[in-house]
Amino acid sequence: MLNKHRLLTPGPTPLPEQVRLALAQDMIHHRKAAFKDIMQRVQGRLRLLFGTEQPVLPLSCSGTGAMTAAVHALFAPGEKVLVVNGGKFGERWAEIALTRGLECVRLDVPWGQAVDPAAVAQALEADPHIRGVLMQLSETSTGVLHPVQEVATMTRARDVLLVADGISAVGLSPCPMDEWGIDCLLTGSQKGLMLPPGLALLALSARAWQKAEANPSGCFYFNLPKERDNVLKGQTLFTSPVNLIVGLDVSLDMLLKDGLDALYRKQWALTMLTRTAVSVMGLELFAPAHYAWGITSVQLPAGIDGVEVLRLAQEHYGVIMAGGQDQLKGRIVRIGHMGWVDWADVTAGLYALNRCLFAVGGYSGARDYLEQGLAAYETALAVPPGTPVERRHS
Ligand SMILES: *Cc1c(COP(=O)(O)O)cnc(C)c1O
Repeated sequence: MLNKHRLLTPGPTPLPEQVRLALAQDMIHHRKAAFKDIMQRVQGRLRLLFGTEQPVLPLSCSGTGAMTAAVHALFAPGEKVLVVNGGKFGERWAEIALTRGLECVRLDVPWGQAVDPAAVAQALEADPHIRGVLMQLSETSTGVLHPVQEVATMTRARDVLLVADGISAVGLSPCPMDEWGIDCLLTGSQKGLMLPPGLALLALSARAWQKAEANPSGCFYFNLPKERDNVLKGQTLFTSPVNLIVGLDVSLDMLLKDGLDALYRKQWALTMLTRTAVSVMGLELFAPAHYAWGITSVQLPAGIDGVEVLRLAQEHYGVIMAGGQDQLKGRIVRIGHMGWVDWADVTAGLYALNRCLFAVGGYSGARDYLEQGLAAYETALAVPPGTPVERRHS
């Protein structure tokens, strides 16, 4: 088929041409002035994106590497942490913590729901030995947005570090680290940042830095205090992922051109477009109340094979979407609207989803789902990001 390939997945995501051209340039040396200039330029904009005055460290690894780095830097074996476990990536926090030899208290949350901040408060009250809360901003496996700001009000009042995996949230929905009181915020390059995989970014609060500096058992490769000393000189501890940082310089320019508000407004509008259209199609949203701004998870009608729907969407329409993981395999479709993705890409994805559902016998008969979705998109662009848009009644 002569279709364009449209990657509507929660990472990796499509790349703008400007970023691809930047990535294609020949090597520059990571210890010389030209590279230091790029590192300094990138640093200011990364702090704006993270909402912090602290340095943002580039690490040569995928997002999970930054999660691992955070756990090693901030906790010593035997310390106790609370893990908010509401999906695949919550589980990953627990696995990393256990591998590090931490004691792990799991706060299980049904998939599709956000954690109740009161439950976190209760868990912290019940066990004064807990030294950290590990959670996701956006739980990509379910499409849920967790209330990190509310949780931070409890951790900042205690000797408890809040470590937030923002891999599918940074650059997509607000997460002002210093204002909220997040102690560690991290992300990866291939989700909201319009870059290939392979670069992670991580920042620590002032009190988290104190703890990292005093930690008797760090990690050789992810030595965050040493990494920070290097970053302050426009360097990285080991050989830098040079191309990715050159690409980051360009992608940050594009993301921040009109300011953070415009960036979040676009993401919110794409979310309203997607949620409205799938609702008009008669499909259930898997994360009904608290939802991410870079991905929408949709429940499929009983008896519909989600794997087949995705296969048809790719084969006949060139649209690549994600399915469910583990117990959700075949039961949900996850439509990514992150990275270099706009309303036209999302509209193509919604059309493909509708047509492929029809092909497997799951069509609801809705006619104006795209029209209503796009009307919601237009409305959402004109209101403060986060304002829900009511569906028009046809
Ligand atoms: C993608 C993702 C990860 C894993 O990142 P990798 O780059 O694959 O290591 C972890 N957490 C969240 C929330 C994610 O979306």
